[in-house]
Amino acid sequence: MKDCLFCKIVRKEIPAEIVAENTNCIAFKDIDPKAPVHILIIPKKHLGSTLDFTDENSWLLADMGLLSNSISRDLGLHEKGYRWVINTGKAGGQAVDHLHLHLLGGRQMTWPPG
Ligand code: AMP
Ligand code: ZN
Repeated sequence: MKDCLFCKIVRKEIPAEIVAENTNCIAFKDIDPKAPVHILIIPKKHLGSTLDFTDENSWLLADMGLLSNSISRDLGLHEKGYRWVINTGKAGGQAVDHLHLHLLGGRQMTWPPG
């Protein structure tokens, strides 16, 4: 999508610290980290949010999860644990309208989230 911030990162039109990539997803460091490790995993194809999942593309969610798992193992996050977050819509706290999985780790998380 032309004016989407994360599509621009996929196309390398704006810089990002890319940490991993597979055929359909990329992962890069969050510009404003909320934990010692804060990585965003996104599908390369533009999906606005979880609401854009269909029978045809919902496998992308698993693909994002598998890329996240490989990063977690590389960084040693799997030993203590970590958190996945996906915000959807205004009340969900979504600020960027390109589906992204937050991988947060490196500190103790609290519950409930804000
Ligand atoms: P959300 O509120 O779930 O939509 O999360 C959007 C996330 O994108 C926030 O954590 C931002 O810090 C992050 N973000 C915004 N712009 C950039 C950027 N150019 N590069 C990396 N992360 C970004
Ligand atoms: Zn996009």
